[in-house]
Amino acid sequence: MVIGLTGGIGSGKTTVANLFAKLGVTLVDADVIAREVVAIGSEALQQIVAKFGADALLSDGKLNRAWLRSRVFADESAKQWLNALMHPLIRTEIQRQLNTAQSAYVLLVAPLLIENGLTALTSQVLVVNVSPATQIRRTCARDQVSISQVEAILAAQCSQSQRLAHADQVIDNDSDGIDLSEQVAELHAFYLHLASEKLAKTPT
Ligand code: ATP
Repeated sequence: MVIGLTGGIGSGKTTVANLFAKLGVTLVDADVIAREVVAIGSEALQQIVAKFGADALLSDGKLNRAWLRSRVFADESAKQWLNALMHPLIRTEIQRQLNTAQSAYVLLVAPLLIENGLTALTSQVLVVNVSPATQIRRTCARDQVSISQVEAILAAQCSQSQRLAHADQVIDNDSDGIDLSEQVAELHAFYLHLASEKLAKTPT
């Protein structure tokens, strides 16, 4: 059974995911996979360099993600080309990791779970919900970036209400210092119950 964990930038997905991991739940992280598929030596990285030139690389040979992001930002056909390359690779690797996971259920952590249609892979969607003001404040403090940079990312992600429309469960993480472990423990018990019911229904 796959639980999708999502939320906007700086909402607390990583914080919540780490609490599930402490309870023994396997995490499949779409952001980590998105970096792995363009690692040095990968076919995808070679294709990106063939398309955009060596400017796409940092001096150590890794992908210059910030350069590539700004390169495709205002170039719709380049963006489509990049998405057509990356999305199938990411999806295949997500699927492979989900298939090999051993815990009673798996958490698929993806900031763009809804935007990229990854909900098709999940049984339940758990949304970490915070107000945009909290997202901006926490992201600026964590990443030392400007308010306008965070606002631009917020504008490219789906809105709070669109995300909540897909939610089966919601963790409210707006208050600073809130103890999330209790909410996670309750959800864990619920997901274990769902997973055991699902197992009972699986034909042998
Ligand atoms: P991103 O999508 O940008 O990777 P995220 O959703 O994974 O972000 P986190 O990195 O877990 O979010 O949290 C964002 C920041 O907010 C971190 O610095 C984290 O320590 C802090 N944070 C998360 N939850 C709380 C909370 N309840 N109280 C105070 N700070 C919090």
